[in-house]
Amino acid sequence: MGIIDTAMIKKILEKEKTSGGNEIHLVATGGSQKNILTIGVFHGDEPSGKYLIERYLKGEYKAKNRLLFVPCLNPDGLRAGTRGNSNGVDLNRNFPTKNWQHSEKDKYFGGDSPSSETETRFIVEIIKKYKPDVILTLHEPYRIVNYDGPALEIAEKISKITKYDVEESIGYPTPGSFGTYCGVERGIPVITLEFAPTIDSEDADTQIVTPESLWCHYEKIMQFLADY
Ligand SMILES: [Zn+2]
Repeated sequence: MGIIDTAMIKKILEKEKTSGGNEIHLVATGGSQKNILTIGVFHGDEPSGKYLIERYLKGEYKAKNRLLFVPCLNPDGLRAGTRGNSNGVDLNRNFPTKNWQHSEKDKYFGGDSPSSETETRFIVEIIKKYKPDVILTLHEPYRIVNYDGPALEIAEKISKITKYDVEESIGYPTPGSFGTYCGVERGIPVITLEFAPTIDSEDADTQIVTPESLWCHYEKIMQFLADY
């Protein structure tokens, strides 16, 4: 199949409304080979993913693979500046994994039940329907390339681009996490990319950077994944 200029075709494939009344979207562009899914803003206090994806979607690129994007999974949290959504749920603890468990209502609260949140069900349906070959999720602030499932090679490439260390996620419990759901339990290569912090938070004890300064990394990563 031909290589398609992403400046030409961008399509909203799916949309949904959160409990806070904001819309979330799945946008597609690029070619037709592998399905590469990128998800931004799992956590509302990690805003850079939305900026990076939206900037990429404004650009003119060529891609063999079909590039799928959820620019902002947690618009409720983004508006409020909170990790969780408008129900106080950490979406990265709400996936229907075998190890999902009830947790305290702190900032890692995994919800009253697995997949209790609209945002989580939106992603679960996307995984079922579009069967992504590689998934990249954009987080902050730890400057690390985390991975689940068979993603070591991709993680190492992204590590070369960002100069962040590679770390396999297995080894500490993250019940209900997206990496466990897709990477560990379904064998899909999942990269959890922790960029440098772009806003001040209690976890961000390192130097704050601008979202713009992360762009050169993200653009190179997408160049790699577009033809991977
Ligand atoms: Zn995060």
